[in-house]
Formats: sequence, structure tokens, C-alpha cells
Amino acid sequence: MDTIQSIKQLCDLMDTRQASSYEITSEYLARIRRIDKQLNSFVSLHEEAALRAARLADKNRACGRIKPLTGIPIGHKDVFCVKGERTSCCSRMLESFVAPYSATIVQNLEDAGAVSLGKTNMDEFAMGSSNETSIFGPARNPWNLDRVPGGSSGGSAAAVAACIAPACTGSDTGGSIRQPASFCGVTGFKPTYGVNSRFGMVAFASSLDHPGTLTRSVEDARIMFDAMSGQDLLDSTSSRAPASSNTSAATRMTLGYPTSLFSDLPFSITNALEEARKILEGQGNTIIEIDLPHFDNAVAAYYVISCAEASANLARYDGIRYGHRSMHGSTFDSLCEHSRSEGFGQEVKRRILTGTFVLSVGHYDAYYVKAQKVRRLIRDDYLRAFEKVDLILSPASPTTAFRLHALDREPTEMYKQDQFTVPVNMAGLPAMSIPCGFAEELPVGFQMIGPHFGESRLFSLGVQFQTLTDWHLKAPNVLA
Ligand code: GLN
Repeated sequence: MDTIQSIKQLCDLMDTRQASSYEITSEYLARIRRIDKQLNSFVSLHEEAALRAARLADKNRACGRIKPLTGIPIGHKDVFCVKGERTSCCSRMLESFVAPYSATIVQNLEDAGAVSLGKTNMDEFAMGSSNETSIFGPARNPWNLDRVPGGSSGGSAAAVAACIAPACTGSDTGGSIRQPASFCGVTGFKPTYGVNSRFGMVAFASSLDHPGTLTRSVEDARIMFDAMSGQDLLDSTSSRAPASSNTSAATRMTLGYPTSLFSDLPFSITNALEEARKILEGQGNTIIEIDLPHFDNAVAAYYVISCAEASANLARYDGIRYGHRSMHGSTFDSLCEHSRSEGFGQEVKRRILTGTFVLSVGHYDAYYVKAQKVRRLIRDDYLRAFEKVDLILSPASPTTAFRLHALDREPTEMYKQDQFTVPVNMAGLPAMSIPCGFAEELPVGFQMIGPHFGESRLFSLGVQFQTLTDWHLKAPNVLA
């Protein structure tokens, strides 16, 4: 089996009986054992269960019971519950939590035939942009092991880039799928808010959390999306509107380009984006300038709203009903205090304290209410832009993968990593990061943003781009 395999190629191998799911799954498990000591992209493996599921998939195939993902091994970000397996969110707080049920998207993927390989590394509780806050240690970028893979879905992005998983799930609250996808040179996709169920995904900021995928191609993202998405009565914000994945390579689109936002980017990044823009123009798409006047306020508003929601969501970890229980503390309050002090890492504590502050009496209007107003203005900017354009193009991240520990002492510098991604979550729009070149031998991705329920446009333009380019077919040599 070649090193690089998309979901589509793996299905072809099984359809033509060149390989069974058992062989494919065994091969991926062997690659993980061989390579992942350096990468640290997986934090647990479901070896026995995966091989059992693979055997069953082979039986189903033999009887003609073939679904879109039958026998395809997939990694799950450790934020998603997989029944009977540890779901730790890479936090000491949940280090020994075994999920009693599976997240809806995990179940949907398994119902479509997927085999769960294991859980991937992430920033603690999905808070971060570098994967450095994980209790299991950072995942590494397979293009350069001294660099971060991005975060918080860093393990998923690194695993797909290094071809030790054909595809992984991820979650994106402010960029956690698109930024690592850009850093690792893979395709990262999150649909419209509410299209993928949040049930069984450990909550960070509920109004911003979007489940999604990291894959080797746009075509694979579409296959995963079709299997994962759909209304879920177990998630009260699940959407009833059907999102469509139909692609039409022939469509010519009008694309919005907010050039004024890119002035501070390094030349090597703008260069790769310019090339992508030219390729899309060459295909008959029209590019027009657009303005997003409130864009610059997005990071500040995001950190108010996401911390506020995190402080409420993480209040449940009291060491009694949920989470790590301290050996110290003789009263309810002191047990809670010790459990939370020991269970949460520094960045999570910083967010809980910030969130509690912005929600407190006397500060609520000045911070929380104001941030919600800014959120509305950002959303309105996008809606206005989508009256004129089909999709918006932008960078996915202001830098390529940075060195380990380069930003971990400077939280606000780390937060600026999210400038191109958080506004999209504030508006609940679908978006995708696609590899579009390299800068100093590190991958660069560009971002496409769609209107609400405009997933099919993203898939169409993405497939168009990947038919004309081969950036998505590249894999790092170091680990081959
Ligand atoms: N990096 C952002 C943060 O730290 C986004 C995280 C995410 O999308 N889960 O909040």
C-alpha cells in the first residue's frame, strides 16, 4: 500500500479486492507505532476494537453491504466521546473519564462504516493554537519536528499530514481545524453552525463550537461531511435546514477578497495566496474587493464571549459529579477548589477567570454585552458581503507553523493566531482551509468562507482548485 492514500483511494482498493479493511487498518496501526513516537499525534489507540470493526467491515463488504466509509479507519480528536474509550480532552481533569456513549458524529461515521482508530492529541479543552497545553505533551509538525502542528486539533492535522490516519475529526471554536490544517498542509473543513451535531463533544464555548474534519482532499471532506452531518434531536442547536454537498466543477463564482486585511502578512504567505487567487481567476471565477469593517474587533470580542461560555461550561467539573477528585479538602468548597486547581492547566484557568470576570455584576455590560454587539456587527458584515459574492477568500493563519515554545509564554500573541478564523465562528459560517503552497518549506493554506448552508459552494471551488494543483498530494519526507 502506498504511503499516501485518500479515503477515495482506500475505498477503491477495497472495492477491487486489492486490500481488505483488516489489512488497511493493521497497516495504519503499524505506521502509528512506527512514526508516532516522534509526532505524538495520537493519545490513545483502539487497536483491538479497530481490528474487530475492520473484520466486520470486510464481512459486510463481502455480502454487498457497502456504505460510503465501510472499513475506513479514522482518528477522533480527544474532544469527542467514543463509547467505552477514554475521552480526556487532554486534561488532567478528565484523564480517567471513559465515555458511556458515543458523540453523534462518531456514531454517524460508524453507522456509515468507519472504523475508529484512536484519539488524537489537542490543546487542553481545545483552548490554544499550538497543541502545547495538552497533558500528554505537544504533538509535532511532521514537516518539521521543531515546529508546532497548530491547534487545538494539532494531533488530527499532524496524523493526516503524516499519513498515519487517512482522515480525522476535529473541532473548531475559533479556528482549531483551519489553522492546524494550514500549518500541516491538509484540508480542514467545518460546516455551518448546527449542521454537525455537538452532542457528545466536550463543550468549550457552545455558541461557537463546530465539529468538522481534517482530510487529505476536499473530496474526502465531502465524503466525511455526508456521513457526519444531519439534524440531531440530542443537540438543541442542531439545524433543521439541510446542508448540501453537491459539487459542480463547472460553476464560475464571484469571490470576495478583503485585500486591506492582509497588509501585515509576510511576503511568502501573501505570495502563495496570490498564486491561489490567480489559479481561481484563470478558471473563470471573478474576484472582487470586499470590505469587512469590523474584522479588527473580532479577536477581542471572541475572547470575551468564548471565555464567558467556557467559564459556564467548565463549572460542571467539581470533582464530585464530574472530573478529577483531589485527595485534599474536607468541605465541599475546599474539595472543589483543590480538584479544580489540580485538574485544570494554566491556560484553562486563565480563560475561566477571564470568563467569570466578564460575566460578573458590574462588568457584564461593559464586556459581555458589548462583545455580543460586536459579534452582530461582524455577522452583518459577512451577510452584506454575501449579497455580492458567492464565497470569500482569506488567509487561514497569519504565519506558517511556528517553533515550539515560541508563543507559549505570550497568550495574547497566541490569540492573534486566530485573527482570520474567529470572525467566521462568530458568524457561524462554513469554511475550509486548503493547502496552496509552501513558505520556507512549511505549508501555507488559504481559507474559503461560505454563506450559511453554502457548503456545496465550498466543495465545488475546493475540488476545482485541487484538480488544478497538487499541494494536497504532497507529504513530508522525514517520516516516509
Ligand atoms: N485558538 C483558539 C482558542 O484558543 C481557537 C480554539 C478552538 O477553535 N477550539 O480559543
